[in-house]
Amino acid sequence: MKHLVILGAGTAGTMVANRVSRSVPHDWSVSVVDPSPRHLYQPGLVALPFDGRGAEALERPRAATLSSRVHWIQEEVHAVDPTTRRITVGAGSPLRYDLLVLASGAVAGVDELARSLDGHWGQAVHEPYSLPGALSLRNALERFQEGRLVVSLPATPIKGPAAPLELLFLADELFTRRGRRTRVELVLTTPDAAVWPGPQAAHVLDGLLQRRGITVERSFVPAALEPGERTLRAADGRTLSWDLLIVIPPHRGAPFVTRSGLGDALGFVPTAPDTLRARGLDDVFVLGDATDLPVGKFGSVAYFQSRIVSESLLHTIQGRASETFDGHMSCFVESGRGRALLLDGGYGTETAPGPFPLPWLGPLRLLEENRLSHWTHQALEPLYWWALLPGHTLPIPRRTPRRQAPT
Ligand SMILES: Cc1cc2nc3c(=O)[nH]c(=O)nc-3n(C[C@H](O)[C@H](O)[C@H](O)COP(=O)(O)OP(=O)(O)OC[C@H]3O[C@@H](n4cnc5c(N)ncnc54)[C@H](O)[C@@H]3O)c2cc1C
Repeated sequence: MKHLVILGAGTAGTMVANRVSRSVPHDWSVSVVDPSPRHLYQPGLVALPFDGRGAEALERPRAATLSSRVHWIQEEVHAVDPTTRRITVGAGSPLRYDLLVLASGAVAGVDELARSLDGHWGQAVHEPYSLPGALSLRNALERFQEGRLVVSLPATPIKGPAAPLELLFLADELFTRRGRRTRVELVLTTPDAAVWPGPQAAHVLDGLLQRRGITVERSFVPAALEPGERTLRAADGRTLSWDLLIVIPPHRGAPFVTRSGLGDALGFVPTAPDTLRARGLDDVFVLGDATDLPVGKFGSVAYFQSRIVSESLLHTIQGRASETFDGHMSCFVESGRGRALLLDGGYGTETAPGPFPLPWLGPLRLLEENRLSHWTHQALEPLYWWALLPGHTLPIPRRTPRRQAPT
């Protein structure tokens, strides 16, 4: 028997496991290793502070998300040794693999931040990247009547890069509805010069932020947080005061990646941008948030990559050439008031306005804020559970549409 082992059963690992398990030859087993008993729909964390849903709406038992053909090993991975092809897990004996998939995601450093802020955590300083964090933020927003609300981005890549913008748009809607908007100042701090990597999308998003009265502090690399004084200092010396602070914690790869010598300085795995193999390791594929690739850490990227990796795994087993990834990502940005806009791009191409996914017909339109994009975005949550995780193929192009503007 040969063994395909997938480390991490989040968005990416689950899609690959379910997809591949339908087609692997009978002499191959498919296993996933993940210690966590529940699967969280992470994009749902953004709306949680603003809607009345219970936390349980965003979770499913992990076993229910995995095909019966997939063997789930509920253990934490401690290390991988690519020379002997062995994985150390929990207290059990090491696992052996013939092909390995790294899908262990990115870790938002919530615990480190909470420890460093001690008693202030969950009072005036919040994070929206965990279930308890999003729920505690909901309470804080209920109490918040006036003052400056700051959303602060770290200097590392983050998952769901649209989430901080969406939080601000939804906060604008919330305080407008409550009649408190003129008393609440909304500010975004970003370590980058632009609010989005591509110039066309950045231009559209800048316009939206401006129209909603949301200020942006650019090139603001957070250096020190003084919760007692309610200030945030940037590396260049700028100081910003706040009344309610929403911190997006710095992100890293899973600790076992670093422990195994497989990661870069942040613990993300150096990955070949086209084949999605770990650099220098032909029998190891990487996808989702775990890679070091210059694409946003989006579930949509994980979806497009899962199609490539699944086919490449089967091709590798059959001795055929790998499929290639072109950096395709699609992302809705919820802009509040029942509207959203859609971005879509890939390596070297960025979103340009126009119909999507069908040329001429759409029915969606890129870079245009409208209700259809909002409703399509809302439909993604049931699609996630019923189509994406089970490994079905959506009727959207796997490759980045070619008519988009080069960056
Ligand atoms: C607030 C927020 C909003 C977002 N919004 C969007 C959005 O609007 N659109 C979009 O496309 N994407 C969005 N995302 C991003 C999306 O959720 C991620 O890109 C996607 O989940 C990545 O999938 P993944 O499998 O790589 O990582 P994950 O889904 O995080 O899965 C990683 C898995 O690895 C497991 N793991 C970690 N360490 C170990 C170990 N040592 N041993 C075994 N298993 C381990 C974890 O338990 C986890 O199950 C958002 C994310 C957040 C947090």
